[in-house]
Amino acid sequence: MAPVKNKPLTKTQLNQLKKKLQEERASLLFSGKVSADDFWLSMTEDVSDEVDAAVADYEGSHLLRFRNREVFYAKKIEKAIKQLESGEYGECKDCGEMIKFERLLARPTAEMCIQCKEEAEREESSNIYGRMSKSLAKTVDLSVGAAAR
Ligand SMILES: [Zn+2]
Repeated sequence: MAPVKNKPLTKTQLNQLKKKLQEERASLLFSGKVSADDFWLSMTEDVSDEVDAAVADYEGSHLLRFRNREVFYAKKIEKAIKQLESGEYGECKDCGEMIKFERLLARPTAEMCIQCKEEAEREESSNIYGRMSKSLAKTVDLSVGAAAR
């Protein structure tokens, strides 16, 4: 038996998601969080994924950080709308399975299915732990040493 795949999205579902994405885009522009310039800039700039957002988070001031996040989100919306138009929308970029409609409805810019996302988040948090323990290594070693005694 062939592996069970999620059904592709129906036209109605796609239209519903497109509307949601357009509303999100409109609300970002309307609230002034992202200017139209940022929006078009965000499409040409090659900010790749969460990593850059994390770097921007780390380096930016509070205001810049907030702005970057909005621009980053605006870029994701734009990308999703493009994918919707070209018929590539809704596929997990990791495993290629269709992302469930319910998940897309809740988060229309989702690029990964819930399984892959959870896995990625687990890896991410273990990386953060890895970074943290480097600077905390001395303290950790001391306390571990003390506990062992
Ligand atoms: Zn996946």
